This record gives sequence, C-alpha cells and structure tokens, in this order.
Amino acid sequence: MFTPKRIIFEKGTLEYETGNEILTLFKGRDNIEIINLSNNNIKQHIPGEDLPSQYKEGKRTLVVGIKKNSKFQTCKPSAHYQLPLVSGCMGQCQYCYLNTMLGDKPFVKVYVNTEDILKQAGKYIEERLPDITIFEGAATSDPVPVEPYTHALQKAITFFGANPNARFRFVTKYTDIDSLLDLEHEGHTEIRFSINTLSVIKQYEYSTASLNKRIEASIKAVQAGYPMGYIIAPVFIYPNWKEEYHELLMDIKKKLPGDLKYPVTFEIISHRYTSIAKNRILEIFPESELPMNDEERKFKYGQFGYGKYVYPKESLANIKGFFMNEIDTLFDNKEVKYVI
Ligand code: SF4
Repeated sequence: MFTPKRIIFEKGTLEYETGNEILTLFKGRDNIEIINLSNNNIKQHIPGEDLPSQYKEGKRTLVVGIKKNSKFQTCKPSAHYQLPLVSGCMGQCQYCYLNTMLGDKPFVKVYVNTEDILKQAGKYIEERLPDITIFEGAATSDPVPVEPYTHALQKAITFFGANPNARFRFVTKYTDIDSLLDLEHEGHTEIRFSINTLSVIKQYEYSTASLNKRIEASIKAVQAGYPMGYIIAPVFIYPNWKEEYHELLMDIKKKLPGDLKYPVTFEIISHRYTSIAKNRILEIFPESELPMNDEERKFKYGQFGYGKYVYPKESLANIKGFFMNEIDTLFDNKEVKYVI
C-alpha cells in the first residue's frame, strides 16, 4: 500500500466519502503532512531544490482530486479507452515511461468521484454497442497500491462485471489485490502482472513489490477466476539473461495451478528508449546503469510518430526466438500476445 509523506486534498474532496476515508486513515500520523488546498497550485506544496529531489518528493505525494473532464483518452492498440481512475505511481523504476509524462514532481493522484468516471464509461459502452468496449486502467498509473483506500478498482471491476459489453484490464507491479478477489467480475477484468528477473528488479525497479510477492498475487488472481497474464518488460540482454529469464518462467510454471480457466497470457517487450526519456532518466538518476548507448541500438520510428532506440534486428530475433520457445515448452494453456 502506498503510504505517502504528504496528502494534498483539492477543494471539495472532503465532501465525498472517499476523501473522508482517506483523511480518517492518515490523519494524526506523525510523519504524514495533510494539506487542504484552497487554490489549484499543487506543486507549490511539493518541495525539492533539484530534479532528483523534486522527483522523490513528488513520488511521495498523494493528491486527492475530483475528476472533472469527462472525456477519456483513447488507448490504442491494447484497449479502446483509458479509464482515468488514478494517475502516477509510487514506484521509482528508472526506465518508467511515466518519467517523461508527469512533469518535475510526479505525484500520485486519485479521484473521489469514481462513480462519475464509471458513468462516463457507461456512455462509451452504449455508443459502441453491440461491440465490446475495452478499458485500460493502468495507462498512466499503477492503480493497485492506492486501492486499499480508493476502492476504485473494486468499483470498476464490479461495474464492468455487470456489463456484458465491457472489458477492463490493468497491469501492476504491486500486490494489494485481496479486496478484489471475491468480486463478481464475471471474467470481464484481466489482471496482468509486470515481472522481470531478480537482477533487473534489483537494479532498476525501486519501491516496487518483490518478485515473489507479485507472483503470489498473480496466483491469487487466477484462483479467484480472473483472466491473468504477465508482462515481461523491459527485457534486457545482459550476461546470463537467458538463464535468468528461464528461471523466471520456471518459477511461474511451478506455481501456476494446472486447471487454468483462461489461458495465461504473455506480453514480452524488449527495452527501448527515446532521446527525451534518456535525458530525463539521466537527470533523475545520474548514476543509472540502464543500457542506453545509442550506438548499440537501432533507431526506429514507432507507430506514434516519434523515434526510439531499440535492440538491433539480430538481438530482437534472439529475444523473440528465446521467449517463444521457452513459453511454448513450459506452458500448456497459454497465449503469447506479442514479443516486440
Ligand atoms: Fe512506472 Fe510501473 Fe515502475 Fe510505477 S511500477 S514507476 S508505473 S514502471
């Protein structure tokens, strides 16, 4: 669970049940500052003299707000719309795609009016009938570590469970999913766990749940009847990478129950970066050892029009061959969605 260092309540949020619950849970604790905002200037309450300290302070700040703009962003190709339940994440993964998206002080923001957000989702579902509409709950966040006090996923899963034309999916590196296990999800929500080798987690994924805990949570999700999958990302090529990714897959194989209701899905994404991301990462983590030597990569224009540095063709083929072969050999009831 995300325990922030400061909580900033936007105007009006304490008139909502969720706002009050968050206040009740955290007020009176010595090391948590509570700020009631009278204007809209969130950032003036987050300290930090330079980018690394602003980043760290931002990551330890929870903002409680009201979602006003009812329009959802699209979310191609994995879903039709982003479901804006939470933005930001307590994690401090060096390679995180959010590093270039959330500004200098990347706070976590939750909303007290989940019902309004779901009502809007309902309108989008209606518009697309009789087709199914898919919503992604983790496009700009990891919603799981704040779930114990927002209950936003709980409400969303129940809402989508009751609608045959809706599907919901989210991905996490955290484990606070116990309150989701007994919900009437009807198989409409897919929970994916982002995992990696122990070396990668240790080196780059600060403030996230341990690998064991993530796998343990993934098994609980399967046992609760959810469609479940793993995102293995970013995949790095480093000494022993094949042995370590093999161990990771073996670990999952040993722990997954044999009688899966849905195939376990795999999404495998090799490491890539943009120049903007690289500069940002090196400003926030000057000691970073992320492999970002442009000469060792291939520059490629992506589907969204900007260029990325990806592994060269032979390395990508190596990654693809390795994972396809391993997953095929180790798992019976599985679906590899992509290896890129
Ligand atoms: Fe980013 Fe995910 Fe790490 Fe959070 S857990 S910092 S969203 S990569």
